[in-house]
Amino acid sequence: MSDRPLLMIPGPVEVSPRVLAAFSTPPPGHLEPRFVAAFAAALERMRRVWSAPPESQPFVVPGSGTLAMEMAAANLLEPGDRALLVNTGVFSDRMAEMLRRLGAAVREVRAPVGDAPSPEAVREALTAEREGPVKALFATHVDTSTGVRLDPRPLAEIAAEHGLLAVFDGVCAAGGEPFDMAGLGADVYLTASQKALGLPPGLALLVASERALAVRAARRSAPPPLYLDWASWLPVHQAYEQGKPAYFATPATNLVLALEAGLGEILDAGLAECLEAQARTGRALRAAWSALGLAPVPVRPDLEAATISALRFPAGVDSTLVARIAARGVAVAGGLHPEIRSQCFRIGHMGYVVHRPDLLRRTVEAVAGGLADGGIEADAERAWAAAAAVLESAG
Ligand code: PMP
Repeated sequence: MSDRPLLMIPGPVEVSPRVLAAFSTPPPGHLEPRFVAAFAAALERMRRVWSAPPESQPFVVPGSGTLAMEMAAANLLEPGDRALLVNTGVFSDRMAEMLRRLGAAVREVRAPVGDAPSPEAVREALTAEREGPVKALFATHVDTSTGVRLDPRPLAEIAAEHGLLAVFDGVCAAGGEPFDMAGLGADVYLTASQKALGLPPGLALLVASERALAVRAARRSAPPPLYLDWASWLPVHQAYEQGKPAYFATPATNLVLALEAGLGEILDAGLAECLEAQARTGRALRAAWSALGLAPVPVRPDLEAATISALRFPAGVDSTLVARIAARGVAVAGGLHPEIRSQCFRIGHMGYVVHRPDLLRRTVEAVAGGLADGGIEADAERAWAAAAAVLESAG
């Protein structure tokens, strides 16, 4: 075992040898032909991994997922606009705060922690909105604080019925949970590099629909802050995709090389195959957690994300479990949602590790060992056998 723990937190995540090799080179200049080619390929690959239509626009901006959220919000909403927000946890709260700071009026539809608002509740909230027309619907595909995954389809349908922009935070989902941007008619699907795409942290990534770009272009109030403004980045992205270097602000050149490689790896293996491997990993680990007596935070199986497990501590266990698991060489995360922070821990299992049963096994064994070290009966072999049975049954 190396000194470095196995990184099973919900991002940053382990990266593949191909991604690591692409990233670990002397930094290319942003005007070099090999960088231009990599940037162009990355943009084209983003559309494919997002299942986005050809006229959509990918953006790759140095920053984190929070920046991608802020870009979506700042380009689409003007002061006084109304938004409906489907709230499933801390990252939905973050988006609500951003929207309010932009001067938007936000109506939130909430559910108890671990649950998600039903499509009917969302529809009712829209129908009940008497203050004025709603411009956009915001939802978090997988909320990392609760491990709750929403079904984007009914929400996209509701948005389409009411003529709303549909914006999905896919930070803990994109590349790991199915999301058909074209089929859903979604307007923004955003993420960060360090999650299910399996890259190092440092890139804010989003794809905007043609309609979303038109909304920005038709904006009547003051433009968004310069760095957030799609209009600042659009000519640069268009130039790169046409094979020409351009400059607005310095791109994270090594990360763009990693992005090209990581998306290439997903597409070479097949997007559908990668999503299936991710789904199978989620099912397998859930079988292991259940064998260890660990209950999920999401209140129904259909709400459990494939990319992350948020697990309640069993009786007699507290947050010191996280340190005991770390002592066995695997980093997992504590609770994040204020209502359940001290009652749960979280394990990220997205990206490269879904192709590495040996690393999944180390994780299951470390969790079982951490429980056992705390005096809780935990059979690591039985737990791994339960996971392995799922991994093997699906071939
Ligand atoms: N949205 C979701 C669903 C997230 O999980 C995260 C990060 N955990 C963010 C947004 C914010 O991303 P970042 O930490 O990269 O700014």
